[in-house]
Amino acid sequence: MDGTTLEDMRTALRGPVIGPRDAEYDAARGIYNAMIDRRPAAVVRCTDAADVMAAVDFIRDHDLELAVRGGGHSGGGLCVVDDAVTVDLRPMRWVRVDPTARTARVGGGSLLGDLDHATHAFGLGTPAGIMSTTGVGGLTLGGGHGYLTRRYGLTVDNLVAADVVLADGRLVTASESEHPDLFWALRGGGGNFGVVTSFRFRLHAVNMVTAGVTVWPVEHTREVLRWYREFLPQAPEDLYGFFALLTVPPGPPFPEEIHGRAMCGVVWCWSGDPDAAERVLAVVREPGAPAFHFAAPMPYPALQSMFDELIPAGLQWYWRGDFFDRVTDDAIDVHAEYAENLPTALSTMHLYPIDGAARRVDRDDTAWDYRDAVWSGIIGGVDPDPANAGTIRRWCVDYWQDLHPHSMGGAYVNFIGEGEGHDRVEATYRGHYDRLAEIKRKYDPGNLFHANQNIVPAR
Ligand SMILES: Cc1cc2nc3c(=O)[nH]c(=O)nc-3n(C[C@H](O)[C@H](O)[C@H](O)COP(=O)(O)OP(=O)(O)OC[C@H]3O[C@@H](n4cnc5c(N)ncnc54)[C@H](O)[C@@H]3O)c2cc1C
Repeated sequence: MDGTTLEDMRTALRGPVIGPRDAEYDAARGIYNAMIDRRPAAVVRCTDAADVMAAVDFIRDHDLELAVRGGGHSGGGLCVVDDAVTVDLRPMRWVRVDPTARTARVGGGSLLGDLDHATHAFGLGTPAGIMSTTGVGGLTLGGGHGYLTRRYGLTVDNLVAADVVLADGRLVTASESEHPDLFWALRGGGGNFGVVTSFRFRLHAVNMVTAGVTVWPVEHTREVLRWYREFLPQAPEDLYGFFALLTVPPGPPFPEEIHGRAMCGVVWCWSGDPDAAERVLAVVREPGAPAFHFAAPMPYPALQSMFDELIPAGLQWYWRGDFFDRVTDDAIDVHAEYAENLPTALSTMHLYPIDGAARRVDRDDTAWDYRDAVWSGIIGGVDPDPANAGTIRRWCVDYWQDLHPHSMGGAYVNFIGEGEGHDRVEATYRGHYDRLAEIKRKYDPGNLFHANQNIVPAR
């Protein structure tokens, strides 16, 4: 972009426009996943919806390429593209709770920690992901699952309305009664349909939860997974437990003698009656004696930020996912094999439950297609050292290729890895893809919003 265009953009906007010659450029283009190192033409820090409208108009009218940044957590770095302009929503981090209506309005650049902090003051919360540093924007538009999902559904199942800046620069509200087709598409269709400047969520009573972790030696992966696949789907919906392969981190609450050891485990959140927690979690002895078990009452936001320090921004990441309606014996063999060869201390595999309330929503009510899935799985190669980037990527791809035949065929859109290709996007939306492509044609016929898992406008 030439200097004149950059200056014109500065004039058009209230928030700062950061170009390659500015001191803040490297900080502005950096994202959570340090494997992504791209050089946008500019990063436009939007202060409000008016700035987003001006930015979208400017970028479209000047034939520039557009990307949108919420929390910057996407694995493939969808929010920064070489030579494109990033519409950066970081200044739009705000939350307003209406405790009477039990709803929260949330700025488009907010992080999950902002949402949890604001709603917790009223003893309220809504389902979202398991790290406080993830963006509400990308997570919600992809669907969103977390500790409250078995009880209250996906994040999109709790979305009541969204303010959206469309490709033509207009701001509209999407809800069941206004632009219902757009509202349908936003609930799982990713950032394809516009820039969401604010979300409105339904809230639920959530305050203290009992959170915990149980780990078993990695050699017991087969027995533990066989137990977990039977136990969890029939457990009360106020119990959430995601299965993980992991290396025990060198710090509390884990005892020193198991630091650095490969394990399989379950991370728990019991949001029911606190007095029942111990009895409910007594089941952890069923697959064999754990190497360690810990559970304690804590405020919900404390659980939501439990992993923040363990996996800070700046690590190398490569991930891939798939949906599963069952965990077959053959799949368990694959997990057991890769569990014994985790390539780095932070590399992992998680199975996130998406049954319970999430499964009861009608398949055609939202763009999220896989209401028949029980788990959303992710394999993540993670390490601080850029020299290991190739190793973790290879491990992830090999593991995924061996496991994929035992999956339902598509993945949670937010777990599609960099470079997986358009077939994977179609597999994610299955029977909903064509309807999404029609809605895309209506709201973004020129595919201005294509820096995402792209839905191509129908012809
Ligand atoms: C450590 C970690 C833990 C995670 N845990 C979970 C989890 O528990 N549950 C879960 O469901 N997911 C989880 N995720 C995945 C997460 O949902 C995705 O990475 C998601 O894309 C993050 O959104 P973001 O806004 O931070 O990312 P960004 O990279 O900023 O954006 C991702 C995509 O969304 C678009 N976008 C973002 N905000 C907006 C907006 N306001 N309007 C329009 N488009 C927008 C962007 O253009 C881009 O295409 C996790 C990711 C990480 C890295």
